[in-house]
Amino acid sequence: MTRTSILAELAVERGRQYAKHGNQAHLPDGTGGSQAQALAGMARSDCQTAAAAGAVTFAHILAEEVAEALAEDTAAELRAELVQVAAVAVQWIEAIDARPVNPDCKGGKHRSCAGDAWDETADTATRCACGCHEGGVR
Ligand SMILES: [Zn+2]
Ligand SMILES: [Zn+2]
Repeated sequence: MTRTSILAELAVERGRQYAKHGNQAHLPDGTGGSQAQALAGMARSDCQTAAAAGAVTFAHILAEEVAEALAEDTAAELRAELVQVAAVAVQWIEAIDARPVNPDCKGGKHRSCAGDAWDETADTATRCACGCHEGGVR
């Protein structure tokens, strides 16, 4: 999936949210304060510790960006952090979409998938990354 199609998917989801909740622009930000800042510090340090150990995950990175957004006091800084949150989320979606998946799984025929896939980037056979193989459930 291309970045453009992911952004189109986000626009569709915004439409769905609007249909469900209406205009929520009147809601207060609710960000900032010493507790949110302490949590942001913890998330930052978790991420740095994981990165130093070579074990950083998308969960670490997104948690850090979300915690930083929640710690911001001004609308300008909050907006800048929210852009980073959204960009990390898009990057994560791109990474999931890029995982090698067997054509059977891609076509929704999960029970037919033998569990193998072709990694286009590495040009080698690998395991099918479809979520249907997780936890032994197919
Ligand atoms: Zn599958
Ligand atoms: Zn599969």
